[in-house]
Amino acid sequence: MTELNLPSYSIETELGNSRSDSAPVPDAISTIPVAQPAPDDKPARPHRRRSWAEPYKIKVVEPLKITTRAERERAIAEAGYNTFLLRSEDVYIDLLTDSGTAAMSDYQWAGMMMGDESYAGSKNFYNLEEKIQKYYGYSYIIPTHQGRGAENILSQILIKPGDYVPGNMYFTTTRLHQELAGGTFVDVIIDEAHDPASLHPFKGNIDLQKLTDTIDRVGAARIPYISVAGTVNMAGGQPMSMANMREVYQIAQRYGIRIILDATRAVENAYFIQQREADYHHQTIAAILREFCAYTDGCTMSGKKDALVNIGGWLALNDPELYEEASNLVVIYEGLHTYGGMAGRDMEAMARGIEESVQDEHIRARVGQVEYLGQKLIDWKIPVVVPIGGHAIYLDAKAFLPHIPQDYFPAQRLAAELYLEAGIRTMERGIVSAGRNKETGDHYYPNLELVRLTIPRRVYTQAHMDLTAEAVEEVYYNRDRLEGLMMIHEPKYLRFFQARFALKSPVS
Ligand SMILES: *Cc1c(COP(=O)(O)O)cnc(C)c1O
Repeated sequence: MTELNLPSYSIETELGNSRSDSAPVPDAISTIPVAQPAPDDKPARPHRRRSWAEPYKIKVVEPLKITTRAERERAIAEAGYNTFLLRSEDVYIDLLTDSGTAAMSDYQWAGMMMGDESYAGSKNFYNLEEKIQKYYGYSYIIPTHQGRGAENILSQILIKPGDYVPGNMYFTTTRLHQELAGGTFVDVIIDEAHDPASLHPFKGNIDLQKLTDTIDRVGAARIPYISVAGTVNMAGGQPMSMANMREVYQIAQRYGIRIILDATRAVENAYFIQQREADYHHQTIAAILREFCAYTDGCTMSGKKDALVNIGGWLALNDPELYEEASNLVVIYEGLHTYGGMAGRDMEAMARGIEESVQDEHIRARVGQVEYLGQKLIDWKIPVVVPIGGHAIYLDAKAFLPHIPQDYFPAQRLAAELYLEAGIRTMERGIVSAGRNKETGDHYYPNLELVRLTIPRRVYTQAHMDLTAEAVEEVYYNRDRLEGLMMIHEPKYLRFFQARFALKSPVS
């Protein structure tokens, strides 16, 4: 374990924008008109709009193809009613994922021209290392081609067969690497995370009782680390509080167990801490991120999310001996420890993306855009998972299409219909994604039957969000007309990627 060195300062970011202690608390993100009580002598204001707008302007555009309904009917039928099988050029607004889909800034693109493509010791590596040390606070950095590359190396150096890894809900690749290394994942997230209607402000929190019960049951020696994620993807992008992180840290200290952070969405998590935890209203995102990471011993990171790049990731550690082992392994799986599968120019873009990602204005607009779309749908009484998370809106397909039994794939049908309605591409997260029970051969019937609308960073405008909300509302209005789907081709592994479907009865 490394000594905790709590940052008692606020970090000056190179792009300015640090929040001084006297800076005002940011306005709540709300563009929804609120009737204000009239002060004594003034007439009531029916609308008081406290807008935010994107902290950038657009310099380069990528034209989108506008398709007709007939073209979309053909495209989705050809894709077997599976949005993963659509060609992206047939999509108008692509909300499939926020992974690697961000728009880079002119500052990042300029950095791409500064790529030092030397095999060893690229200057871009040293810049990346410096930025991660500065904003995340870890001592040793190893670049990897993306997040799962870091997860593979970390799992191999820390996990032995028979070990247990407690965590706040799993992420697909993270858990798989833990299991491949011989470990067993134990979910210790609070119960509220599994309830789509619970309004708990930190549904990503770890249940401390579940954690200590697990430690007492298997013994601290069999727990190589506690796996902690900032904004839990699989729970709907729900954050973990600083208070909870501090308590987990104290427990880990008591038992002498490491904490490893999945830092993929830790900046978004810092934003929720700033908004929802009273002690942090006046702190910068950069300072909150540093403190959050300071309670951990290292991290894996997918740069394709918070760090505003199309490809890249890293592994960070504080322990020099672990770093030594990891830098040895990375040579086998990724590349030399000063490039880890990344081009010099890509490391430069990621270094600059990190700087931009911790700007308060950036993250406020990023999460604000997600909340803007979510709030519209809530106001229109459309069933969504609440509270709205950091990167996506999840439609509750069971409540949306209650007349379609889960066997007929309501979320898959809804995702197909959003494409038919307006060329919007989303992703099923329900029975198709859940797969089948290996022993019985039956479908798993997950509680949550969802459609995910994932918002790429800095890519779409508020008008795109309005159009998306209107399309969802249109489909909701006409929902009675929809029938389910039948699966006509089922791949053996991760079937949601390549399964094909047919309409139960033709479009009317
Ligand atoms: C995307 C993601 C990963 C894996 O990262 P890749 O870059 O896709 O390999 C790990 N954890 C979380 C929380 C993620 O969202």
